[in-house]
Amino acid sequence: MDAGVFLVPLMICGLLGFMLAVGIVFSYMWLMHLDAETRRCPGCLKKGAGGILETELIDSRSYIDSSATENLSRKYKNRLQPVRVEEKKYKVHYKCKHCDHEWTGVALEKEYNSR
Ligand SMILES: [Zn+2]
Repeated sequence: MDAGVFLVPLMICGLLGFMLAVGIVFSYMWLMHLDAETRRCPGCLKKGAGGILETELIDSRSYIDSSATENLSRKYKNRLQPVRVEEKKYKVHYKCKHCDHEWTGVALEKEYNSR
C-alpha cells in the first residue's frame, strides 16, 4: 500500500480546514475591532471600555429598500422582489469599565426580509 494515496487528500482537507479557521478568526477579530471602536470611552479614550447599562428603543420603522432589492436579486439571480427593511434605533447607555464615565450612543439595527 502506498501511504501517499491517503496523505494527499488528508493534507488538502487539513489545508482547507486551516484556511476556514483563519477566515473565521479574522472576521471575528474584525467584528470585535468594530465593536471596540463603537464602545470607545469619551472620557479616557480607551477602546471597547463601554459596558452596556441599558438600551432603549427610540425609533422603529419599516420600509421598502429598492437598492437592497437590486443587490439581493443580483446575488441570488432571481426576479426583483421587494425587500422590506425593519429598522430599529436604540439609545444605548454605556458606562466605562475603567473610569466610570457614563455616556449614551445611538445604535441602528437593520433586518432584511425578502417579503
Ligand atoms: Zn473611560
